[in-house]
Amino acid sequence: MTTASHLGIGMTSQRTRNRMIARLREQKIRNTQVLDVMSRIPRHLFVDEALASRAYEDTSLPIGLSQTISQPYVVARMTELVLENGTPRNVLEVGTGSGYQTAVLASLVPHVYTVERLGQLQQRARHCLQDQNLHNIDYLHSDGGWGWSDYAPFDAILVTAAPEEIPESLLKQMAPGGVMVIPVGPKQEQELMKVTLTKHAYEVDSIEPVVFVPLLNGSQ
Ligand code: SAH
Repeated sequence: MTTASHLGIGMTSQRTRNRMIARLREQKIRNTQVLDVMSRIPRHLFVDEALASRAYEDTSLPIGLSQTISQPYVVARMTELVLENGTPRNVLEVGTGSGYQTAVLASLVPHVYTVERLGQLQQRARHCLQDQNLHNIDYLHSDGGWGWSDYAPFDAILVTAAPEEIPESLLKQMAPGGVMVIPVGPKQEQELMKVTLTKHAYEVDSIEPVVFVPLLNGSQ
């Protein structure tokens, strides 16, 4: 999606990104690696040209097919939680969407496996990520509620669409000591959860209320 009009915003986007980072700090995002990566990734290239000027506002934006790019604060918070117990060797991301969260992850961990149920969004995201020279990513067009058993177990799983309950298949694909960050619950009543697989059990921490699109079954 790199076009002439994107070049225009390119000149001012570093300043706008710096403002976004200042806001994230005010919102108590502390992980400097996360802040650093988000200050470099051109978020405006992951949204439609018509919305590029709003890309650094702290809001989710439409990316087509009734889906949204998550707001910067939520991306930062979820990434911070993924890194909290050390840098994971691999991450499974469910819900590629625009690919922006994928870009943040792929800039911080050795390998990202990302699953999207809508083929059209997946293709667009893949092009964007390749344009950013991010090649440590594998893509799957599928219902991510089933995870990606070929590459399991995962040190971290990050889900960017909300199921009503945590899918059993994802729990089973967590590595020992691994984490899963996932919004759970019906529309308007979702809570961000962090699941840790300790030696003996799955420990679940409730983090904060969030609003995500629902995790849907099947792929198209
Ligand atoms: N992290 C993305 C969020 C996109 S919105 C971003 O910031 O751009 C959530 C995405 O999850 C949508 O693209 C939606 O199509 C996808 N999704 C919903 N249910 C899914 C499922 N079962 N498997 C894979 N992707 C799913």
